[in-house]
Amino acid sequence: MVAEDGTAGYGECWGPIAGNDRVVEEVIAPLLVGENALATGRLWESVHFKLRWAYHSFAPYSALSGVDIALWDLKGKLLGLPVSELLGGAFRETVPAYATGHYFRKVETLEEQISAVLEEARGHLASGFKALKLKIGLGRTLGWGTEADIALVRALREEVGSGVPLMIDANCAYDPSEALRVGRAAGEVGVEWFEEPLPPDDLDGYARLSSKLDVPIAAGESWALLSGFHEVFRRGAVSIAQPDVCSAGGITEVKRIADLAHALNVPCIPHVWGTPIALAASLQVLAALPGHVLLEYDRSDNPVREALFDKSLSVRSDGTVAVPKTPGLGLEVDRERLESLRSSR
Ligand code: CA
Repeated sequence: MVAEDGTAGYGECWGPIAGNDRVVEEVIAPLLVGENALATGRLWESVHFKLRWAYHSFAPYSALSGVDIALWDLKGKLLGLPVSELLGGAFRETVPAYATGHYFRKVETLEEQISAVLEEARGHLASGFKALKLKIGLGRTLGWGTEADIALVRALREEVGSGVPLMIDANCAYDPSEALRVGRAAGEVGVEWFEEPLPPDDLDGYARLSSKLDVPIAAGESWALLSGFHEVFRRGAVSIAQPDVCSAGGITEVKRIADLAHALNVPCIPHVWGTPIALAASLQVLAALPGHVLLEYDRSDNPVREALFDKSLSVRSDGTVAVPKTPGLGLEVDRERLESLRSSR
């Protein structure tokens, strides 16, 4: 997003380039040319209306999200203020981060899997992280079921001790009885939250699971819009909401979702993935949210993230990341480097 004076705002859309790029270029961009970049709320409504009208139930809200983030970055730069100030002011100067990683490897035995995960965990702790998220539920392609997941969770808890907050994330892998089994075992070893145990469209399943388990159920990266989260909250589906700024509707909509969550006393801890643009945008939102917050910090391989990385977003020795105070998202994007990453089509 570029203003008349050449100031550029950057955003990030969740998901594949295919689709997002064409929607942004052909549907959204014509709506925004000549518009006032400061009018983030009005422009959000206008784009949302057009997408819903054009795509009905398949509206690509990731495209809207990336554009909205770019508008906020641009608005902050034009006004000379960080986005957190524009969202009502920062509650904090740093946000504690947790390391996401610990994916399943293609190894022969569960012992090898466990040992690889434990080694990775030690690395995250050595890098300064004070909290970790473990991936589970992905081992069924390797022939492993919930017992393997439970063994993995127990091994990690034993390795790091009781002082390190642990989260587990099943990426929608389970049916209700499997989720119940894993959730009960997770409760025994002390887990901060159990993320995406079920497919996202099974909201009743989420609600039943939440009522049966002591461990808090978290989810949100697969849901979009305030209206979507309203339904999630109405059904009592989760104890922690995790909207993603790059897919749930951008900074505009995630702030609204967080405000609704706050009104209902549901913690909102946004899901974060992707490049430093997503990281910086999420940090600005997290800075402006009341209550206890945590920054998801993806530690898996991502060449785009590495290429665009800004050292100011590094995790410090106390396990936190500083909230950028420079205007907009507070991220310097190297335009040449970004161009060099462009996909060809
Ligand atoms: Ca997740």
